[in-house]
Amino acid sequence: TLELRDISRRFGSRNVVDGLSLRLHAGQVTCLLGPSGCGKSTTLRIAAGVDQQTTGHVLINGELVSGDGQHLPPESRGIGLMFQDFALFPHLTVAKNVGFGIARDPNRDVRVRELLGKVGLEDFGDKFPHQLSGGEQQRVALARALAPRPAVMLMDEPFSGLDNRLRDTVRDATLELLKSEGTAVLMVTHEPEEAMRMADQIALMRDGRIVQSGAPYNIYNSPVDRRAAAFFSDIN
Ligand code: ATP
Ligand code: MG
Repeated sequence: TLELRDISRRFGSRNVVDGLSLRLHAGQVTCLLGPSGCGKSTTLRIAAGVDQQTTGHVLINGELVSGDGQHLPPESRGIGLMFQDFALFPHLTVAKNVGFGIARDPNRDVRVRELLGKVGLEDFGDKFPHQLSGGEQQRVALARALAPRPAVMLMDEPFSGLDNRLRDTVRDATLELLKSEGTAVLMVTHEPEEAMRMADQIALMRDGRIVQSGAPYNIYNSPVDRRAAAFFSDIN
C-alpha cells in the first residue's frame, strides 16, 4: 500500500503541499478532505507520479517509488487512477473498455464479467459508452481502473460530475466494489458529507498540511479547532 513521507511541493515561492505524511491501509478508504485550493489534487498527483514532490518520499508496498533522485512513472506503480474526467474510449464497447488494461490476461473475459456484475452492469458489455448514462459510464470507468487489481486506487473528486440522485447510487456501488476488491484507496473530496459517508479514515487538510486525521465520527465529534468545526457544520 501507499505511503507519503514528509512531502512538500513548491510552486514559485509557495509551498502548496507542506510537509505532509500519510499512509493508506489495505481494504480501507482514506479521504483527503479540505477546502478548495488546500493542495489535495497536488498531493494525489504526487502519489500517482504525474507530478513530482519538491522534497519527501513516496513508497508503495514499502518500496521507494519517488524521492532521492528516483521517480517511477504512474504506469509502473501498480496503481489505479480515477479523476473527475474519467473518459472512456468512445469507439470501444463497455467490455473492451473494462478489459483494456488486462489485454494479455488469459482470464480477461472472466474478470471483465465479474467486474461488470459487481458494478451492476452485467448486461451492458456490448454497448458503447454513448449509449450509457453518466452514472453508468462512471461505474464502467471504475471497473476499468480496478481490472488489473491495483493494490492502490487514487481518486480525485470521482463523483463530482453526477447529479445528486445518481451520486448516491454510484457512491454505494463504488464503495461496495472497492471493499470487495480489498483495495487501499485515497479519495480526494472537498465535501465533508461525502467523506463522512465514504471514509474509514479522514485526513483533514488545510494550507498544504494535514491538521487532523482519524475515523469520521471522531473528527466530526472532536474537531481539532474552530475552523475544522465550521468546515463540518453544514452537515446534518
Ligand atoms: P480544489 O478542491 O479546488 O480542487 P485542491 O485542494 O485540489 O483544490 P490543488 O489543485 O492541489 O488544490 O491546488 C493547490 C494550490 O496550488 C492552488 O492554490 C493552486 O492554484 C496551486 N497550483 C496547483 N497547481 C499549480 C501549478 N502547476 N502551478 C502553480 N500553482 C499551482
Ligand atoms: Mg482538486
